[in-house]
Amino acid sequence: MTTDTSARPLVSVKDVNKHYGQLHVLQNINLEVNKGEVVVVIGPSGSGKSTLCRAINRLETIEGGEIFIDGKKLPEEGKELARLRADVGMVFQSFNLFAHKTILENVTLGPIKVKGVDKATAEKDAMALLERVGVAHQAPKLPAQLSGGQQQRVAIARALAMKPKVMLFDEPTSALDPEMINEVLDVMVQLAKEGMTMIVVTHEMGFARKAADRVVFMADGQIVEQAKPEEFFTNPQSSRAKDFLSKLL
Ligand code: ADP
Ligand code: MG
Repeated sequence: MTTDTSARPLVSVKDVNKHYGQLHVLQNINLEVNKGEVVVVIGPSGSGKSTLCRAINRLETIEGGEIFIDGKKLPEEGKELARLRADVGMVFQSFNLFAHKTILENVTLGPIKVKGVDKATAEKDAMALLERVGVAHQAPKLPAQLSGGQQQRVAIARALAMKPKVMLFDEPTSALDPEMINEVLDVMVQLAKEGMTMIVVTHEMGFARKAADRVVFMADGQIVEQAKPEEFFTNPQSSRAKDFLSKLL
């Protein structure tokens, strides 16, 4: 007998609120992401997209509401939080690699320190991941010796090394030179095809059209609308979304 878990949300954000002083940056956010689903979050700058990403792995506290990862409620702190956080891989706009560690060490550090994986196994897994993102030959180098696109692919490999259940990307190509954007998006498209559950904040509408199962549009701390990409791009419902899309063209 097989157990169908496909309908269970892997990430569940329920009635989440957050203020920065007077600014109500997350206003009663509700979002469910199913296993294997790719959700692209778009919206104007300042709408709360990054805050939402950070809330999902508790780099940010929330006021009220609950967040569940694979059915388990994220606690405020402690060992259980560290365990659940390991299920959520995060890739930021700035690659945040450890500057004084080699590419290989950047990828093995988490599994060795956090998961207690032995060095040989961690290195073997890391090399396979670096191969997958096309930078295996750079393994002994330091981050500064790599291009931005290569560093971002290492950051993806580093996140994958923790065997996360879901990957969060916060504008992963925004800091890259244009010619390097596609090499990073290609890795993300591949990851999506392989069935990874993904939440991706991006301004790359081509990626959204190609890889997203659902587009979530945020403005002013709210999820204003969500739809399948072809629906959203051809027939946005809200005036905010219409306005946002018209400015992209
Ligand atoms: P987005 O990622 O959609 O551009 P953010 O989540 O980064 O939006 O920010 C949403 C709003 O919250 C913005 O107005 C921003 O200036 C504000 N903000 C973000 N982080 C902080 C912070 N640490 N302290 C105060 N205000 C913040
Ligand atoms: Mg942001």
